[in-house]
Amino acid sequence: MKFNTKTIHGGQHHDPSTGAVMPPVYQTSTFVQSSPGVHTGYEYSRAANPTRTALENALASIENGARALAFSSGLAATDCVLRMLKSGDEVIAMDDLYGGTYRMFTRVYKDSGIKFHFVDMNDLEKFKSLFNENTKLVWAETPTNPLMKLADIEAVAKICREKKVLFAVDNTFATPYLQRPLDLGADIVMHSATKYLGGHSDVIAGALIMKDAELGEQMHFLQFATGATLGPQDSYLVLRGIKTLHLRMQRHCENGQKVAEYLSKNPKIKAVYYPGLESHPFHELAKRQMKGGFGGMVSFTFASGEKAEAIKFLENLKVFTLAESLGGVESLANHPALMTHASIPEDKRKEIGISDDLVRLSVGVEDAEDLIADIEQALS
Ligand SMILES: *Cc1c(COP(=O)(O)O)cnc(C)c1O
Repeated sequence: MKFNTKTIHGGQHHDPSTGAVMPPVYQTSTFVQSSPGVHTGYEYSRAANPTRTALENALASIENGARALAFSSGLAATDCVLRMLKSGDEVIAMDDLYGGTYRMFTRVYKDSGIKFHFVDMNDLEKFKSLFNENTKLVWAETPTNPLMKLADIEAVAKICREKKVLFAVDNTFATPYLQRPLDLGADIVMHSATKYLGGHSDVIAGALIMKDAELGEQMHFLQFATGATLGPQDSYLVLRGIKTLHLRMQRHCENGQKVAEYLSKNPKIKAVYYPGLESHPFHELAKRQMKGGFGGMVSFTFASGEKAEAIKFLENLKVFTLAESLGGVESLANHPALMTHASIPEDKRKEIGISDDLVRLSVGVEDAEDLIADIEQALS
């Protein structure tokens, strides 16, 4: 089955008892047993729920994994991966991460005895030098939020395999429509399904997809034993979103490219961060690694370098909504330093390039002409 067909049919079955084409929302905590320990495979919804199972089968199908798990949020999914580790273990992570992931690594796990290294994974020599016998996990995000830096998944995966270290990729920005990390050698894919997979800004959800069934079973135990599962109604919403993922992503990519090209020609703009621009430092890698487009996320800075100009621009937008989050059908705009990345200390923000005049756009699936006209009027 090819990708577009998988988004609709992958791992799906009509409901056996009624023939319902979409899985019912099994709003139940528990399931009948005919004799103690004898049941249909479902006993308690923290362990498994049929609506969540339908979503998990779809997730495993579109990411080409052996097993998927749906979580109550993206961060809950990340946290579940970290629960495999113990005091003394070390993690190597990318130096430009989603703010909440960075906050978890540096603050929640601060006194856990787990050591985190942050590195630019494009410097493969420096990356390799951080491995030692305690290294248990490598964590990458590509493209990154909000600066659209890329990591070469295949090259990083090769090193992780040699060192026998698990490699997890946050695939929230690209989605499996554009890139499938498990096919490139990663062991785990993590998603904030709140974003493109759900696609309609109406649910908070997360996912892990494991290449290997045994690792999948291990992660299921941790999820079951700690409890951050996704409810049936939210599972249904994400499953419904996945069925149009390919259609939405195609338009997100088209509109993202048009908006990025418009911005790159505007004299009021200094830098545009979009992997689909030839001027982007990772354009060649993006062409090789991301198939069929470059996504809907575009960041930029102002020629004036003024924070005040960025704020005025955001206040003036009419079609774009000023809000956190991304990946929904509607276009959103965000000021990373004051909003999504405020949890990263100022000196660290400056170091990785999140300046006070940086604006991040999540380009939606409206008409590109309306989006560009909105940007133009807000700039003037
Ligand atoms: C939003 C986001 C997360 C966190 O997901 P939640 O669903 O908000 O918990 C993690 N990684 C990336 C890249 C994100 O955009």
